[in-house]
This record gives sequence, C-alpha cells and structure tokens, in this order.
Amino acid sequence: KDKKILNGQEIIVNVRNLKIGGKNPKIFIGGPCSVESEKQIMTTAKHLKEIGVDILRGGVFKPRTSPYAFQGLEEEGLKMLRKAGDEFDLPIITELMDEKNLDLMLEYTDIIQIGSRNMYNYPLLKTLGGVDKPVLLKRGMSATIKEWVLAAEYLAAHGNKNIILCERGVRGFDNYTRNMLDLAAVPIMKKETGLPIIVDPSHGTGVKWLIPPMTKAALAAGADGIMVEVHPNPSEALSDGDQSLTFEEYENIYKECAK
Ligand code: PEP
Ligand code: MN
Repeated sequence: KDKKILNGQEIIVNVRNLKIGGKNPKIFIGGPCSVESEKQIMTTAKHLKEIGVDILRGGVFKPRTSPYAFQGLEEEGLKMLRKAGDEFDLPIITELMDEKNLDLMLEYTDIIQIGSRNMYNYPLLKTLGGVDKPVLLKRGMSATIKEWVLAAEYLAAHGNKNIILCERGVRGFDNYTRNMLDLAAVPIMKKETGLPIIVDPSHGTGVKWLIPPMTKAALAAGADGIMVEVHPNPSEALSDGDQSLTFEEYENIYKECAK
C-alpha cells in the first residue's frame, strides 16, 4: 500500500549532459554553502571547473537556525549562480524552501534541492512532483529510512521521478560530529527505491578533516556522487565556514577518488 512507483528498479536521472545513477561515472558537486557575491561564486566556479567538478552548488535561500544569521542573497544570488554556471559550463543546484519562489527556480536552476528541514514538507513535495525538473531530496535530520522513501514516493506519485537522494546525516547522541552520517543508507535506499543517491559529508560530519575519508567511504558504499562545501576563503564564509574546504583541499579529494 505504501510503495507503488519507486520499486527498486534502477532510475537514471539526466541533468543536461550528465547521467546520474547506475553505472554512470560518479558525480562531484561542489560550491559554497551560500552564494555571497558575484566574485565569490565566479571564482569558485572557475576553480571547480578546472578541478573537474560536474555541478556547482550554492545556497541563495538559506534555512538558517537563527533568524539573525545571514539568510542568503535570494533572487540576486540565484542570478549570480546561474551566471557562474553559464560562464563555466556547469549545471547548478540550489535549495527551494518556499513555493512562492518556484517560478524563479524553474527559470534559473538545473536541480532543485529540498533541504533536510523540508523533507517532511508534503505540500512542497506534491508541488515539485508536478514540475519537469530534477529534485535532490535530502534526508530529514530525524527521518527513518521509511519516511525518506515515502517522501521520495510523494514526488513520484505526483509525477516526478527525476529524484536524486542525498544522505546528509541524522541527529545522533554524540556532538563530536554535527550529524551522524549513515552510510548504510546508501545501499539501502538504492535497493528500496532504485534512485541515484549521493552523500553530503560536509553537513554529514561538520568536521573538515572527516570529509576526505567519508567521501571515499561514500563512494565505496556505492554512492553515485558527493556534494561538498567549498569556499575561496573558508574563514570568511558567511555560513558553514568551519566545514568548508579550500579549492586545493577539494582538488586533493578529487584526485584521490579518481585513482
Ligand atoms: C545545504 O546543503 O545547503 C543545507 C542547508 O543542508 P541540509 O539541508 O542538509 O542541512
Ligand atoms: Mn551549509
């Protein structure tokens, strides 16, 4: 009764020229937590393109815990992200929180990200089920496997099977790390849904030095790609600077994984 559409049969998601899932090459996504300026996102796109990264990320509508923290550049930031993507020939991904910004998203982004906090936002999922655009569905920070599967099923049931899952850790009992990264979820979600799944070790651990080993572990577990926060100058980032990598650090991970 619960599952009808996502039955474990392999689904490949197309994003422009990229094919995500199955036996296709692993996808590397990188970029800042937040788009902060045109210069910041242009510099980032340039370096990431040189490294060989496939997709540029950048938040413009930010789900910040504090209402006094930087909330993102919104429409202006979205246009900067698009410009950077176009300039360096990189598809872009950014988070949608509010349906009122859907038209902007449809116009400018290649992938719509549903963040951890909105995995349970069923009206938003129903709406995105009706659009012709890939959706990256992050795991809710307290979501069980079953709840996550059914959140994806909401999108599929409303007509959109272009879904990429993203494991980003769940809230654990130990605050050594920001979240508890659940890599067993990678093969489990693939088996249960057939959807491609990537891992976000940046939010998944919140600890810079854990990102390289967790990236490798994610790919070894069968993840179809990874998404990592990268910033030209992490110590000056307006959000998540502590967990953001420099270009050089991301390049090192990329090279090691290519091996
Ligand atoms: C993000 O990727 O920008 C983000 C806010 O992550 P999450 O929704 O996983 O907390
Ligand atoms: Mn972040």
